[in-house]
Amino acid sequence: MNYTQEQQIAIAAVTNAARLCQQVRAQQNLVTLAKADRSPVTVADFGSQALICQALLAAFPEDPIVAEEDAQILQQPAMANCLAQVTHHVQNFIPQVSTDEITAWINHGNGQMASRFWTLDPIDGTKGFIRGAQYAIALALIEQGEVKVGVLACPALPLKPTQPQDNVGVLLVAVKDQGTQIMTLDGTQTFQVQVNHDDNVNKLHVIESVESAHSDRNQQQALAKNLGLTQTPLRMDSQAKYGAIARGEADLYLRIPFAQAAWGQENIWDHAAGALVVTEAGGQVTDLKGQPLDFSLGSKLSSNRGIVASNGLIHQRILAGLQEIGV
Ligand code: AMP
Ligand code: MG
Repeated sequence: MNYTQEQQIAIAAVTNAARLCQQVRAQQNLVTLAKADRSPVTVADFGSQALICQALLAAFPEDPIVAEEDAQILQQPAMANCLAQVTHHVQNFIPQVSTDEITAWINHGNGQMASRFWTLDPIDGTKGFIRGAQYAIALALIEQGEVKVGVLACPALPLKPTQPQDNVGVLLVAVKDQGTQIMTLDGTQTFQVQVNHDDNVNKLHVIESVESAHSDRNQQQALAKNLGLTQTPLRMDSQAKYGAIARGEADLYLRIPFAQAAWGQENIWDHAAGALVVTEAGGQVTDLKGQPLDFSLGSKLSSNRGIVASNGLIHQRILAGLQEIGV
C-alpha cells in the first residue's frame, strides 16, 4: 500500500492544527489549565485535537483514534469561557460549527486501539508551547503494531537550522518504505531528509528534553562520558527532537527514565510519528536495551524502557555504552 490518501488527509489536518496553535500562541493571554495529573493543557490542545479528529472521522470513519486529550474537563461549568475560546478558534477553520460538535470530535479521540488505528498528540511539548519554545503536533497511522504514516508539525521550527529566522513552521512526513520529507507549512518547499552519516562517536551531537524532570540527565551525562563526548547536548521540547535527528541536526536523542520513575511508561502518541520520521530518514529507534518500540500493546509502550533514536551508524556503540554504565 502506498497510503497516498492517508498521507494527504493527515498533512491537511495537521497543517490546520498547526495554524490554530500559532494563532492561539500569538494571543496575549494564553489560558492554561491543569489536568488531573497536574500536566498543563491549553485551548490550543483541544482545538488541535478537534480539527484533526474531524478530518480523520470524515475521511476514515471506521478508524479509531487514540489521542491524548478528552473534553471532560472542558464540559465543567467553570470551563465555559475556555470552551468558548476553543469554539472560536475552531470556527476560524470550520465556520458555524457548534460547541457540541466540537466536544464530540475531541471525544472521538478516546477510541480503542484496533488492528488499524491513528494515534494523536494534539500538542506534544505543551510546556514548550507555553514557554514560547518548540512543540509539535504528532499524528501516526498504526497497522498491526507497525507505524505506516507519521506526520509531525513543528510550527516553531525553521526549515533550515542554519537560518533560524526564515521559513519558520515545518512538517516532517514519513511513510513506511517511502522515506521522510520536510516541507514548509504553506507547502511551497519540500525536500527529502537524511540522517547524518557520521560514525565518529566523539563528534556526535546529543539532543535531549528541555524539561529536566523528563529524563535522567545524570545518566545521559554518564553515557556521554563513557563515549568520550565533549559537546554540550542540544535541548529541544517535543518530538521536534526526532525531526532534528532525521535531518542530521543531531545524531542521538536519548531519553533515559529516572530509576525511581513516578512517570511510568511512555505514551504511544509521544513517539509513533517521530520514530517513523527517524527510521525512514535512515536512522534507528529502539529502547535502552535495543528492543524495537512495540506499538501493539495499548496506549503505553509497556514493553519498552527509555528511548534511543540515532543516525543508525552509531546505534550499537550507544547500546553497548548504556550497558557499560549499567542503564
Ligand atoms: P519532551 O518535550 O521531549 O520532554 O516531551 C514532552 C512529553 O513528555 C509530554 O508529551 C509528556 O507526555 C512527557 N512527559 C511529561 N512528564 C514526564 C515525565 N515526568 N517524564 C517523562 N516524560 C514526561
Ligand atoms: Mg506529548
